[in-house]
Amino acid sequence: MENNTLLKIAADFGSPVYVYDAEKIKSQYKRLTSAFSKVKHLKLNYAVKALSNISVLKLFNQLGSGLDTVSIQEVQLGLKAGFKPEQIIFTPNGVSLAEIEKAAKLGVQINIDNLSVLEQFGTKHPKTPVCIRINPHVMAGGNTNISVGHIDSKFGISIHQIPHLLRIVENTKMNINGIHMHTGSDILDIDVFLYASEILFDTAKNFKNLEFIDFGSGFKVPYKERDIETNIEELGEKLSKRFNQFCKAYGKPLTLAFEPGKFLVSEAGYFLTKVNVVKQTTSTVFAQVDSGFNHLIRPMLYGSQHEIINISNPTGRERFYSVVGYICETDTFANNRRINEITEDDILAFKNAGAYCYSMASNYNSRYRPAEVLWHNKKAHLIRKRETFDDILNNQVEIDL
Ligand SMILES: *Cc1c(COP(=O)(O)O)cnc(C)c1O
Repeated sequence: MENNTLLKIAADFGSPVYVYDAEKIKSQYKRLTSAFSKVKHLKLNYAVKALSNISVLKLFNQLGSGLDTVSIQEVQLGLKAGFKPEQIIFTPNGVSLAEIEKAAKLGVQINIDNLSVLEQFGTKHPKTPVCIRINPHVMAGGNTNISVGHIDSKFGISIHQIPHLLRIVENTKMNINGIHMHTGSDILDIDVFLYASEILFDTAKNFKNLEFIDFGSGFKVPYKERDIETNIEELGEKLSKRFNQFCKAYGKPLTLAFEPGKFLVSEAGYFLTKVNVVKQTTSTVFAQVDSGFNHLIRPMLYGSQHEIINISNPTGRERFYSVVGYICETDTFANNRRINEITEDDILAFKNAGAYCYSMASNYNSRYRPAEVLWHNKKAHLIRKRETFDDILNNQVEIDL
């Protein structure tokens, strides 16, 4: 998006504010579908938890996407946004049997990731088709914060438990219609991903009634200049070929499913903040913005590097800054970062603010969560109001003391 458009949005809607570019979401969606155009049945299920605004979900519905959900509330949001139950897959971890039954009753595809629930669910509802989440014990890049396929991970049913899994399926006569893995965020090495896929194919051979194989997600997008990213086109070419081979051997054209979050929305997002104070200390220059980890926690939680640009002075002389927030706790967004000269009241834009940014925001320090704006058909649409003091008090019970 252009600086002037972003500045106008900050002026019209106030700061801080999240802005999402619908065109970028669409082009990422198209990029992924094109990369897998040689697969006959492809299904992309957008991972709601990355950015769960109902208007963004409606955009995905328009694109023909399905949804990947991790809580019953995300399922309900998806239904409210107009998705049909069969377009939604429910992939929770560690939730109660009751929550899974509730989702099944709504008609969404269930994905079970532990043997205990699998046995209970299969015994009670042998006719409901179930997908199973496998842990192939492969680390597809990234660090241990975001890799969920490794041996100590709490996610999925270990491939070493397949014999036990098969016994449960046979004893309950339940219907397994899908096999799934999600090895975690940030796939850097396509060969590692393909290796994990082979494990999934091997597992799939054990089931006769499959309709789909779900390869999860974890596609890496660039966060800074010259950053590495998953080569989607190369992955598409190699995995499609292998998948088509597998379907031939299996004797049936299955659906290839993915559930990307970050890939689809990360780069579409901008977080606009205003500089309250420029503070010179003996060691550094701080630019303090009207936000903190209450609005964007990824840098502090994962050490993520979000590029920050001064859209009020994009051609100014570059200087070094520490960009921090207003929370009464250390809330460093960026250390020693080269940014065009900052003066108070300038608007700083954080890039890659589409995925896991607003959706992880909180009211810490009793601050309001920001507004959200969707830039769609060259117009700015408010898709979430900034909170007010009533939202802070909502659900609090004031008792007489
Ligand atoms: C979070 C999640 C995703 C999305 O991961 P991204 O790295 O954002 O693409 C996909 N599947 C499951 C099961 C998830 O929990």
